[in-house]
Amino acid sequence: MHHFDYLDGVLHAEGVSLEKIAAEVGTPTYVYSSATLERHFTVFSEALKPLNAHVFYAVKANGNLGVLMTLARLGAGADTVSEGEIRKALAAGIPASKIVFSGVGKTPAELAFAVDAGIYQVNVESEGELEALSAIAAAKGKRQAAVLRVNPEVGAGGHAKITTGDAANKFGVSFAEAERLYAKAANMPGVSIMGLATHIGSQVTEFSAYREAFLKIRGVVENLQKQGHKVERLDLGGGVGVPYEMSYPYSHGPDTVHAYADMVKEVTAGLDIELGFEPGRVIAGNAGILLTRVLYTNQRADRTFLVVDAGMNDLVRPAMYEAYHEIWPVKQPAADAPRATYDVVGPICESGDTFTTGRDLPVLKQGDLIVFKTAGAYGATMSSTYNQRPLVPEVLVKGPDYAVTRPRQTYEELIGLDRKPGWF
Ligand SMILES: *Cc1c(COP(=O)(O)O)cnc(C)c1O
Repeated sequence: MHHFDYLDGVLHAEGVSLEKIAAEVGTPTYVYSSATLERHFTVFSEALKPLNAHVFYAVKANGNLGVLMTLARLGAGADTVSEGEIRKALAAGIPASKIVFSGVGKTPAELAFAVDAGIYQVNVESEGELEALSAIAAAKGKRQAAVLRVNPEVGAGGHAKITTGDAANKFGVSFAEAERLYAKAANMPGVSIMGLATHIGSQVTEFSAYREAFLKIRGVVENLQKQGHKVERLDLGGGVGVPYEMSYPYSHGPDTVHAYADMVKEVTAGLDIELGFEPGRVIAGNAGILLTRVLYTNQRADRTFLVVDAGMNDLVRPAMYEAYHEIWPVKQPAADAPRATYDVVGPICESGDTFTTGRDLPVLKQGDLIVFKTAGAYGATMSSTYNQRPLVPEVLVKGPDYAVTRPRQTYEELIGLDRKPGWF
């Protein structure tokens, strides 16, 4: 469910024509829909709230200030993986009391920042980190609320690079060590160990993997409780997938989220515990598109390249994860419009800068606008300036209005990031 639709033959984000945004902001540019973000967050949190749940939006999916402020107003907490993300969440008005801090490589400086900020919870991922956190907080005369992230040895996700719960993945403490480390944490001066966390992967569409992982973690909770430990929180992570293809064998929207909530309800039944969720993609994925213009068509004997002005530096998912993005022309094609097969590529000097090969699309020509759909998550946040290309703008639409929530980086800003060595 999203709010990108044709209106009078032109693709709109809510009430705003994408032709208008292209003319006024230029291309390439990301465009996000407030109504879609709000709907996804509301559906998710309402489905989970009856389970005594807190929802921490995963900032790394889309950390644009306008997006975070939109979600903050709905009461969202934030799941963060760096000091930068904590700062961004705070800047968006998400209080420290609703921020959790995950990640395998938190630096001592980042842990100290989190403790000083008074965040809700640190999701500790290793014994070394547990010791570091306790020492840092104790030196400040504080105790930081923490949960222990356990690797359930159940991987899931849309691609090997976004699977996190497998035994071979770097995330979390080993399943076998969880109870020992929990007992150790319970006796440490600088942490208040509150419970467990897990996160098995991203773009998870098979809830059987969740069920298996969550039941394993539940077993650890019960063992710890039997041993007399206080286990008050269980953070079940994020990862709920979204459909990237219209024909995806997986529905999205209230039905998916309700099925997820039902599964969680079943596997946590009878546990007296506060649940935490860290959805990213399912909130932001379908709430954004990348708007780009066709620069050239390059006809070869065996294929036609459609060269667009967006590159893998702007949207890396196809190059990095072999991800699929629907492509829609901004001008609505007639039902009987002629079609052609294209390899859609960007301008970057890498053959990997290919968004898709052999895609059947309405015939497109130089100057036409197209969008990559479902680019609201892991799009702009993963972009770079590779090939010295300025970061692209981000636009947030709300009903008939839009705001440029991140202007296009200027060449002065881009080049100004560097400093000349003193010896020149
Ligand atoms: C990335 C991440 C998430 C969000 O994953 P989605 O697939 O976007 O829902 C949640 N929790 C942790 C710890 C993460 O690293």
